[in-house]
Amino acid sequence: MIRQGALEDIEMEAYECAVCGSRDLEPLYPSGYQGMGVCSDFRLINGVRVENRICRQCGLIFNAEGIRGNTKRFYNATYSLMRFKDDAAIRHFSETRQISQAEQTRDVFFRLLFPKKKGRLLEVGAGKGDFLRCCREAISGWRITVLEPGESFSYLVHKLRGVEAHRSDYKDYDIEKGTYDIIVALGVLEHVENPLDMLQWVHRGLNDGGAVFLRVPNFEKNPNDLFCVDHLSKLTVATLHGLAEKAGFAVMDVESAGVPVFAVLKKEKRVMPNDDEHTYNTNMKIAGANAVFAERAIKAILKARETAARKREPFGIFGLAMSGIFAPIFSGFSPSDIAAYIDENKSFWGLRIHGRPVEGLGAIEEKKIRHIALTISPVYVKQVKEKLSRFRGLTVYVP
Ligand SMILES: [Zn+2]
Repeated sequence: MIRQGALEDIEMEAYECAVCGSRDLEPLYPSGYQGMGVCSDFRLINGVRVENRICRQCGLIFNAEGIRGNTKRFYNATYSLMRFKDDAAIRHFSETRQISQAEQTRDVFFRLLFPKKKGRLLEVGAGKGDFLRCCREAISGWRITVLEPGESFSYLVHKLRGVEAHRSDYKDYDIEKGTYDIIVALGVLEHVENPLDMLQWVHRGLNDGGAVFLRVPNFEKNPNDLFCVDHLSKLTVATLHGLAEKAGFAVMDVESAGVPVFAVLKKEKRVMPNDDEHTYNTNMKIAGANAVFAERAIKAILKARETAARKREPFGIFGLAMSGIFAPIFSGFSPSDIAAYIDENKSFWGLRIHGRPVEGLGAIEEKKIRHIALTISPVYVKQVKEKLSRFRGLTVYVP
């Protein structure tokens, strides 16, 4: 008789690459996890697994579990896309300023793809319509269509009057062949079950001279994404090139700005040479380094907490990266040990994570926080460490 456990083991090995179907997969940290999962909008969902893999065939880095298989229900009912406050949105920080991600995206959009003549634009997964509202004047006269499957749809319709809107994901929308001059997908490709399938759909809808404008979180800059259950693909620049070329596109431009990476694609008539081996080699290096960083991010939090407990001093977490939200669940400590989550993005202030408040830098002094763990992208560590150095008596724990 076969033990139940043995059957499960066989099943676990049966994962396939979401893009190429290969079963030649290598597990990545923190595979084997099952329990409460953290979503990209900071929500927690029960009974979810993390089975991160890299495909040895095509190089795709993906979570073989997460919300895979449940995406339709998830985006219709669970995913809140930061609806706890209408103005809640990811913001971009540079040395000197803080702008919304929509403003940053608009700036890159106009720089890379200034739409001179009028035409038809489709935005897939338009969320709360932040991007289109941001560049409304510049694209007045364009015929705009938006798709959004989630509950932010009604907000979007209210905010973008006069725009053709469909409550739908891309899969259920029968795109008219060769119709659009520009197709925009911001923060979408990493969520779908098969990113190549979505790009092929985009290719179908685009006219011959048209262009695609994409924004995804660059996994290379975002190791904490290994803990995220709804970013099913952990996309890199190499993966974007590979997927784009397989879907029949040429990559015209790639621009990194912090964690986000933007890409402009145009239809390509030539068949591009297969470069999967390069994608795998590049991605394997990134995945290895990121797994180390993500594990160290959890350890930095545990160390901050332990030291604070020993000295009976408050401890906080800087940033709202997945590691800081996942650490109490993953390591089994009480979130009530966290005095506050500190984040400079004002639009998140007032939010509670595990019942703990999200507050600005002022809370460090107010709450007498003496130990703080950074859970941010490696690209921001230097900048944030400098900023925190003005707080006397504060120990900063870096991954
Ligand atoms: Zn593959």
